[in-house]
Amino acid sequence: MSDKQKKQNWREYVRRIDPYVPGEQPKERNIVKLNTNENPYPPSKRVEAVLRGLDPASLRLYPDPDASVLISAIAKHSGVDEDEVFAGVGSDDVLAMAFMTFFNSREPLLFPDISYSFYEVWADLFQVPFEKVPLDEAFRIRTSDYKRANGGIIFPNPNAPTGILLSIREIREILDANRDSVVIVDEAYIDFGGESAVPLIREYDNLLVVQTFSKSRSGAGLRIGYAVGSRELIRHMRDVKFSYNSYTLNPLQIMGGAAMIEDEEHFRKCRDRIIATRERSAVRLKEMGFSVLPSAANFLFASHPSLGGEELFRFLKEHGIYVRHWNKARIENYLRITIGTEEEMEQLFRVLALMIKE
Ligand code: PMP
Repeated sequence: MSDKQKKQNWREYVRRIDPYVPGEQPKERNIVKLNTNENPYPPSKRVEAVLRGLDPASLRLYPDPDASVLISAIAKHSGVDEDEVFAGVGSDDVLAMAFMTFFNSREPLLFPDISYSFYEVWADLFQVPFEKVPLDEAFRIRTSDYKRANGGIIFPNPNAPTGILLSIREIREILDANRDSVVIVDEAYIDFGGESAVPLIREYDNLLVVQTFSKSRSGAGLRIGYAVGSRELIRHMRDVKFSYNSYTLNPLQIMGGAAMIEDEEHFRKCRDRIIATRERSAVRLKEMGFSVLPSAANFLFASHPSLGGEELFRFLKEHGIYVRHWNKARIENYLRITIGTEEEMEQLFRVLALMIKE
């Protein structure tokens, strides 16, 4: 058989990808889990009532493909119209759908070099050309770096894993310089101290703001995320979604999610507690010699002058405390520590004190 006639093997054309690696979800019970930015407090009691009230017999039917009850609750909460909202299975699903819908140019997609590592994985998966834009020496996003030809822009605000916030003025600066690109602001952590860019969707029809129920709403297990943007952007996302998987959200998510976002009082109480614990924890870490980046999120990004990141990570894990660490240039000596309850943070400080004494 000549080379031309040789049959191809599927292994030559399989889509190969280096997958995103989520934080560990350990099976042991007696651990302090500060590694995936979950909320340490349970969701609103209203969610429990709704979930208990669901009739299992209704599960024989397909769910509402428009998730109308949930979309309507999110629209009300966000002060926008229902056709300006798109919901999905966690913000990861929403972001993946947005990548598929909007990032289809030959120009590179721009995102920070130290950021949510899933962006690079989606860009690879959907074959989107991209460039990682270095943060400055203080781990800040420099808005001037985003004033150049591109096929789209995405960044978290506050950024992850640094926790550093961009002001609305800085976001406007990026939007003003990029009227012809879709700009996605990933606001997974915005409720912990930042100002949301949602109101800007009326001025910028190219702005998509993505939020999640996983952090400030205590709903990581329910898997709900959403995007708010102009009617035109949302329509394009819906077209892609209905060309891919119509029934993404199930009745538990639709009904439970609506109840989750409606309980503002519970939300505020938990959020304020987390912010207070974050501020106290930052002070404690600094007293122990850590340098801590200013965080507007539900985590702290901290490094110690004499203890390596890997070393700290291992020691904490051996003592049942899980935090997040990346073996990556510039951040290899940092730990990302999710803000837990006051008691959980006390346990963390106790173990850190052991290590610092050693
Ligand atoms: N964006 C950022 C910046 C995140 O850190 C996370 C959490 N891993 C997500 C999006 C996705 O969260 P979820 O899919 O739970 O909404």
